[in-house]
Amino acid sequence: MDKAPLDWPNLEFGYRKTDKNIRFTWKDGVWDKGVLTEDETIPLHMAATCLHYGQECFEGLKVFETKSGDAVVFRIDENAKRFVHSCEKILMEPVSEVTFIDAVFRVVKANRRFVPPHGTGASLYIRPLMLGTGPQVGVKPAGEYMFMVFVTPVGPYFKTGFKPVDLIVEEKVDRAAPLGVGDVKVGGNYAAGLRASMAARAKGYTEVLYLDAKHKRYIDESGPANFYGITKDNQYVTPDSESILPSITNKSIVTLAEEIGLRPQRREVDIEEIFEFKEAGCCGTAAVITPVGSITFRDRKVVYSKDGNAGKYSTELYEKLTAIQVGDAPDDYDWVRRIPEQ
Ligand SMILES: *Cc1c(COP(=O)(O)O)cnc(C)c1O
Repeated sequence: MDKAPLDWPNLEFGYRKTDKNIRFTWKDGVWDKGVLTEDETIPLHMAATCLHYGQECFEGLKVFETKSGDAVVFRIDENAKRFVHSCEKILMEPVSEVTFIDAVFRVVKANRRFVPPHGTGASLYIRPLMLGTGPQVGVKPAGEYMFMVFVTPVGPYFKTGFKPVDLIVEEKVDRAAPLGVGDVKVGGNYAAGLRASMAARAKGYTEVLYLDAKHKRYIDESGPANFYGITKDNQYVTPDSESILPSITNKSIVTLAEEIGLRPQRREVDIEEIFEFKEAGCCGTAAVITPVGSITFRDRKVVYSKDGNAGKYSTELYEKLTAIQVGDAPDDYDWVRRIPEQ
C-alpha cells in the first residue's frame, strides 16, 4: 500500500488527521464489538461524567515499521494492564486487556499508510482513551462509557529531539498527592500541572521537575515523563513514589541499564542529589529518553551538558532502546509484537 504523502523526517509531535479511529460503547452492562469510523468528533451528552467529574483516562504507545516492513508495537501488554488499572481507580468500566490490544491492532491496520517508514525517526502514536459518557449531575460513576483509539503520525516530543533539555524544580505547584491519582494516567493530572509547565516555558525552561507533595524534598517526576539520574559510581537512580506514573519506558531502561554496567536503584531521590549526578534524563513513550542538560533549583543550577550533547550513558540507553523498538536489535526480552496484516 502507498504511504501517506507526509514529510516523515520532519513530523512534529501533534495531531494529524488519519483514515480511521475505533470506538466501543458500554451500555446496559455490556461492551459492544467496536466500530471503525472516519468521524473525528464524538457525540456527547452535556451531563457526561467525563466533562464534569473527570472520569477520563488514556494511554500512549508507539508503532514503528521494521526494516522488513512489519508494523510493530512496544510492550503493548503493559499499556493494556495499566489502562485497566487507570479505569478501575476512577471507577470506570474497564475493557479487557485482549479488547485493548485488539482495538489497537484494528485501528493500526486501518491506518497502515500512516505508519512512518523505517529509519525516519518518526512513529505512529496510538492514543487509547476511556470516557464516562453517561449523564450524572450528582457525583457518581457514569452508567455508560466510551472506549476509543485514535492514531497520529509523530516526530519527537521535544522539538530539540535527542538534545539536552533544561528543567526547573517547581515548588509552588503539586501535580499529584501521595494517595491521589498520580499513579494512573488520568487527564486531571495534566490539568493540575498545566500552569506549572506553561510558566516554566515562559521562563525559557523546557519542562518542570516536581517534588513529592508531602515532604517537598524528594523528586517525583517531570511533567509528562519519569526522571532518572546517573551517579558518579554508576547507579541508575529513579524515584520510587506513590504519586508518579509507573513508566513502561523507565521499566525497560532499568533492564537495559544493567546490560551496560549501571546498577539500577528505585528509591526516594532527595533533590540535593541532583548536584551529585553526572547525568540525568527524562523518559516516557513520547519523550523516549530525553537527556537533561541542566536543572534549576531555587537559586542554584546544575549543568550536566556543557557542550550541548547528551552524556555517554543516556546516549547508550537511547540507542539500545530505540534499536529494539524499531526491530534493528534482537528482542531479547520479548517486548515487541508484530501487528498482524489480517
Ligand atoms: C505516560 C506518562 C509517563 C511515561 O510512561 P510510559 O509508559 O513510559 O509512556 C510518565 N509520566 C507521566 C505523568 C505520564 O503520564
